[in-house]
Amino acid sequence: MLSCPRCQASLEPNAIQCPRCQLTLKAHGHPGIPLYRAEGEESLCAICRYDADDTCNFPQRPHAQTCTLYRSLNQSLTPDLPSLTLRERLGLWLRSHRGGIALASLLLLSLLIVLVQQ
Ligand code: SF4
Ligand SMILES: [Zn+2]
Repeated sequence: MLSCPRCQASLEPNAIQCPRCQLTLKAHGHPGIPLYRAEGEESLCAICRYDADDTCNFPQRPHAQTCTLYRSLNQSLTPDLPSLTLRERLGLWLRSHRGGIALASLLLLSLLIVLVQQ
């Protein structure tokens, strides 16, 4: 069971706000947008991947206490390939090689047309 980081009240998984202390738990009032929160005095940025690689341009950097985009330094940005099914991997490969596949298809079609005309 989830609990409020401020008052430890029990929370529903999709709670937007703590029913006891009114702490905001999700961003923009939407249950699908997580709002990450610093624990203690240290800002989230100090342990965020986007601060480490200097790609964050949020104005609250480097002192963010809450953030919707926070990513742990240890968290991978790409899906864990071994956990994907063969079909998901194939879909991922096809999406990332769309240009090459279209070009190869065009060349194959041209070759077929030339062979059929002879
Ligand atoms: S994404 Fe958020 S937590 Fe990460 S560096 Fe930017 S402001 Fe800080
Ligand atoms: Zn609370």
